[in-house]
Amino acid sequence: MRIAAAEIGQETDTFSPLDTTLELFESHGLFHGDEIVDMVKGEGMLGAFLDYLDTQEPVELFPIIRAWAGAGGWIKGETLEYFEQSLREGLEQALPLDGFFFAQHGAAASYKDDDVEGYLLDVARGVIGPDVPIVMPLDHHANITERMVRQSTIIVGHRTQPHDPYDTGQIASELSFPVFKGEITPSVGFTNIPMITQQDQFLTKAGPMKEWFDAARALEQEGRALTASPFPMQPWLDVKEGSWTALVYTDSDKDGAQQMADDLGNQAWSVRERFWVSERVPSDEAVAKAVGTPEGLIILSDTGDSVYGGAPGDSTHILKALLKADVPQTALVPMLDPDAQAQAAAEGIGADVTLSVGGKVDSVFSSPVEITGRVAALSKGLEAYVERRGYSDLGPTALIEIGNIKLVLQSHRSFAVNQPILYTHLGLNIDEAKMVVVKTASNFQFFAPWTKEIIRVDSPGTTQSDLTTFTWKNLPRPTYPLDDLKDWQAGTASE
Ligand SMILES: [Zn+2]
Repeated sequence: MRIAAAEIGQETDTFSPLDTTLELFESHGLFHGDEIVDMVKGEGMLGAFLDYLDTQEPVELFPIIRAWAGAGGWIKGETLEYFEQSLREGLEQALPLDGFFFAQHGAAASYKDDDVEGYLLDVARGVIGPDVPIVMPLDHHANITERMVRQSTIIVGHRTQPHDPYDTGQIASELSFPVFKGEITPSVGFTNIPMITQQDQFLTKAGPMKEWFDAARALEQEGRALTASPFPMQPWLDVKEGSWTALVYTDSDKDGAQQMADDLGNQAWSVRERFWVSERVPSDEAVAKAVGTPEGLIILSDTGDSVYGGAPGDSTHILKALLKADVPQTALVPMLDPDAQAQAAAEGIGADVTLSVGGKVDSVFSSPVEITGRVAALSKGLEAYVERRGYSDLGPTALIEIGNIKLVLQSHRSFAVNQPILYTHLGLNIDEAKMVVVKTASNFQFFAPWTKEIIRVDSPGTTQSDLTTFTWKNLPRPTYPLDDLKDWQAGTASE
């Protein structure tokens, strides 16, 4: 068999002011051809497929491109064109093909086309033709468009939040060979659910999200579905076909697949209000609660400035509350600010500095704050490794001590922002910290060994939980809860 493989992934926060460029993909690892096998085997969805190939009869493999950039703003048109060209050339050289394993994100939007995954599938189909199977694993926060379903053969979404990219890649891999060989013929059931919801109930370990994902697992375990994927689209995606989706595949049973997808859609809709339950608290209250908790590390989740959701990472909202409270215990705080980092580095270790930090990229929801402190440590950069995700360049950093506040100024928007290494590489000890600000509303796992409690801070920003205050320009209407939509049912018109 002749098999092509590629991964192109980015999650777009369409409210973020920070454009996503090719350089950002390069900083997360952009690879072509055979170097892909060396660099990403064992990592992520594509890495799982490369591992899986070792367990199968030998195939002729054509690795084309691996590009990943985490979450951020709109992808520049020229960047999408670069991927288009790489994909086209790679597939042309690989012809004729028996299958294409194409991992994407599902919620990528470019100025050139707000459905990047569908766009790139069109490109691939244009080269390989209509009959070569395409197996596509996706993030479950994807926006599933009609074009994505039509142009792919089978789609598999993540099963857990926090994400499980490697496992998703494995499941897609196990389906891929029977599909490539024509032993199974996937029939799709596809239901868009006219709703969006906040991130506060996105974890799959409890609540309505767990119940919804469990229902999909039951369809698979009962043998009724080849694969069933709920897609609770990430909520900062203002695109033409934006909505939640249920996607179910059977072997050649179209009606059965559609019925199951409709049932999953109706299930999510029926509990839509439960997805809006939240434990968020104002920043001052969150800081007071952290200070008053006797022992253990308190996570202050900066929900509005989630770098993992695509926000810039330079909100000063919680920092201002910590300064105001003059916290009596150690507080660890990350801040993206290349200018302030460079100023601190120029002053040198031990220098007393007054700096204007943060609030520069996102000047809509945040504003700079003036701090006076001491440059306690500097770093020229570090390659941070994240299991099953790969490497990320931390770039130069500076540790500023403002009393008990340990502020780490970052020059790069690295996904190490929510990990202990951001602090430990500057000589700090997590054991001695009372609280840490994280730029995520879901990925608390990195500080789990120390964590006593997680407090969701109701902070403003491009990933804030209050979705009603954004200006929505593209989303189909009516959509719950932006519009008064009471009586939707799967399989009927959304009136
Ligand atoms: Zn996601």
